[in-house]
Amino acid sequence: MTSPQSILQKVFGYDAFHGSQADIIDHVVAGGDALVLMPTGGGKSVCYQIPALLRRGTAVVVSPLIALMQDQVDALLELGVRAAFLNSSLDAAAARAVTRRLLAGELDLVYVAPERLVTDSFLGLLEKLAAGHGLALFAIDEAHCVSQWGHDFRPEYIQLSILHERFPQVPRIALTATADAVTRAEIVTKLGLDDARQFVSSFDRPNIRYRVVAKDAPRAQLELFLSEHAGESGIVYCLSRRKVDETAAWLRSQGVEALAYHAGMDAETRRTHQSRFVREDGVVMVATIAFGMGIDKPDVRFVAHLDLPKSLEGYYQETGRAGRDGEPAQAWLAYGLADVVLLKSWIEKSAASAEQKRVESIKLEAMLGYCEAARCRRVILLEYFGEHSSPCGNCDTCLEPPQTWDATTAAQMLFSAALRTGQRFGAGQLIDILCGKATDKVRQYGHERLPTFGVGSEHDEPTWRGVVRQLVALGLLRPDPESYGALKLTDEARPVLRGEIRLELRLERPKPGKKAKARRRTRSIGSAAVASSERVEPGDARLFEALRSMRKSLAETGGIPPYVIFHDATLREIARLKPRDEEELGQVSGIGVAKLARYGGAVLQALRENL
Ligand code: ADP
Ligand code: ZN
Repeated sequence: MTSPQSILQKVFGYDAFHGSQADIIDHVVAGGDALVLMPTGGGKSVCYQIPALLRRGTAVVVSPLIALMQDQVDALLELGVRAAFLNSSLDAAAARAVTRRLLAGELDLVYVAPERLVTDSFLGLLEKLAAGHGLALFAIDEAHCVSQWGHDFRPEYIQLSILHERFPQVPRIALTATADAVTRAEIVTKLGLDDARQFVSSFDRPNIRYRVVAKDAPRAQLELFLSEHAGESGIVYCLSRRKVDETAAWLRSQGVEALAYHAGMDAETRRTHQSRFVREDGVVMVATIAFGMGIDKPDVRFVAHLDLPKSLEGYYQETGRAGRDGEPAQAWLAYGLADVVLLKSWIEKSAASAEQKRVESIKLEAMLGYCEAARCRRVILLEYFGEHSSPCGNCDTCLEPPQTWDATTAAQMLFSAALRTGQRFGAGQLIDILCGKATDKVRQYGHERLPTFGVGSEHDEPTWRGVVRQLVALGLLRPDPESYGALKLTDEARPVLRGEIRLELRLERPKPGKKAKARRRTRSIGSAAVASSERVEPGDARLFEALRSMRKSLAETGGIPPYVIFHDATLREIARLKPRDEEELGQVSGIGVAKLARYGGAVLQALRENL
């Protein structure tokens, strides 16, 4: 009998299962129900695809995203697995053809949109299938769509409990990357999965490096960050549509292959931009958070945020789109006090209930706490999802531990400047006063005559901005969105003002100058932040690029995304091992029987031509 392990090797071309994949597969193959909670990129798909191949009959996969079904089916076809999908994008004749193949037992997996699945006619079809060639299992992907409180609620998902009522013998596996306990409980009750075994993985994404920078010259900062990712795919998130358009245009003018994406664009342009991002190597998508859901691209190498996200949940989800393939990726965030003021005013001005506003404020504060943290960012992120961990060694605070300093006196100066100006001014004015800068606005209000004028000139402006942001994050100062971010003291500030407690703050990092840039260019191989072509041995880089361009033309010919053919990691291994024949090529991770047969010749030829 074939084992899950041999299918993993022969069909998928991988050596070993990750995490709990093997346990999940054994459980489902034996007919058990399962609820799988695994982060994005954790490898959920094989957990139902392998049982689908091992159990008798066809597996039915419920998936909410039409665009994704096509890609998933393409990827399976590339592996030589018999798969098809049924959704509204098919015309009647194509849908009939899929139905016919389904009833003839010619499909191992069929992907179905939820609204179609729960129709009487489709349920009738399933009855026939159950009585004939058999139903292997039901897989319910993105199971959190059943949650009425979540962002992705899909009413049809609630009706999916009908599957168990009609086909009690058929095992079900529900999968989601949404971590929180409330959603999990809702999935269990709504889908009737009380007896399902739960497989909960860690939500850590160890290959993602988290970094936060204080925003001062956002475009230059972004440009410097992007220079670490030349030729790679990534996403740049902005808060507003206008900023998306402007940033994308500016990046293009700088020679970056950048495209825009937001809900204000027409559907056709959005579709072409999305498809170019998925199908081409090295496109940078500048987008609002409308972009990303249903993007399965495994080789997104970075996610950059030019504005502060509203919550850590959102931030985790957005950054999670980087590095699905498990290769090094970066999550980079630039944030400043103006972001906080803006988000606070949005919350206050929204039509939401008082309770809702309170919740949103708490979420924003958690986000701020993350940004201003002096300890490991990953520990904070995982803690937020109820997971304990130790410092990761792969975030900015771990890699370059921030220095702290006794900022009690500085905070007192700032508080005093705020109080003496009636708590009616924002950070800019207060900092000018403290630094002794007699700007027009300072003179206009006579602030150059205040006793606090110039008392803080020993610190530079970035240091003062850092102090302000940290005091806001700690809840000692509150920017008032009603009056353009005027800083007001909270009750928590009083003990510091009276000198009863001391305040230890993080020292702002000096701006990266020319030296830092030079260091970046000579990063050592194997560091998590180097561009993909730099991760191969220098001698193999040319070969890797040749293999990439071979993959590109194969992808264009086949009308499929490049990563569906081979992942970068696979190409890199080929460049390193330089296999001489099909047998050696078959040993490379990511090359199964079907890919070897289909592309082996092309790869070996490219190797011969470029050695
Ligand atoms: P998820 O759906 O959980 O986001 P996927 O199922 O898309 O994750 O898997 C992420 C990537 O990891 C895919 O490219 C997949 O082929 C790969 N993968 C999954 N399992 C393994 C494994 N055991 N060994 C190597 N690669 C794997
Ligand atoms: Zn860390």
